[in-house]
Amino acid sequence: LQEVLIRAVELTSPRLDEKNMQFNVDIKRDVTVMGDFNRLIQIFTNLIANAITYSPEDTTVTLRIKENDEYGIIEVEDQGIGIEKSEIARIFERFYRVDRARSRNSGGTGLGLAIVKHLIEAHQGKINVESTVGKGTCIKVFIPLKK
Ligand code: ATP
Ligand code: MG
Repeated sequence: LQEVLIRAVELTSPRLDEKNMQFNVDIKRDVTVMGDFNRLIQIFTNLIANAITYSPEDTTVTLRIKENDEYGIIEVEDQGIGIEKSEIARIFERFYRVDRARSRNSGGTGLGLAIVKHLIEAHQGKINVESTVGKGTCIKVFIPLKK
């Protein structure tokens, strides 16, 4: 997973720099999972892009690698606008975007997380969202360990 996250960081850092944001990368311990390298990069590039898009300037995006008995766990945490509890279940729907007016300005399509969810399920994985409005969001991705 280290290599995957390093690549995802490289791909997203120009936009991070534009917003004067920082990465805090806690991936010293590597974990090997069952997955397609490019698909995994796509998952984390999308999640990091969201963390950047939905955060104010001068904030930090934190990436962590963890594991349990079954899964490699990757956390993508931001200090952004957060997501209302009632919206969390819906953000994985195709074309769903919270607050249309604001979303229009950011120019996305609302497909990112639908694709992420599909890719994670194709890996027999899981995704979990914890968020506090006005404080930030932490997305946890679980991908089965390589035994
Ligand atoms: P794109 O297709 O370009 O990714 P998008 O970012 O709007 O467009 P998704 O990535 O699917 O689409 O996200 C859906 C919605 O979930 C977003 O429009 C946004 O309202 C909300 N969202 C996603 N990630 C975050 C986050 N880290 N913090 C706050 N809101 C988020
Ligand atoms: Mg997105």
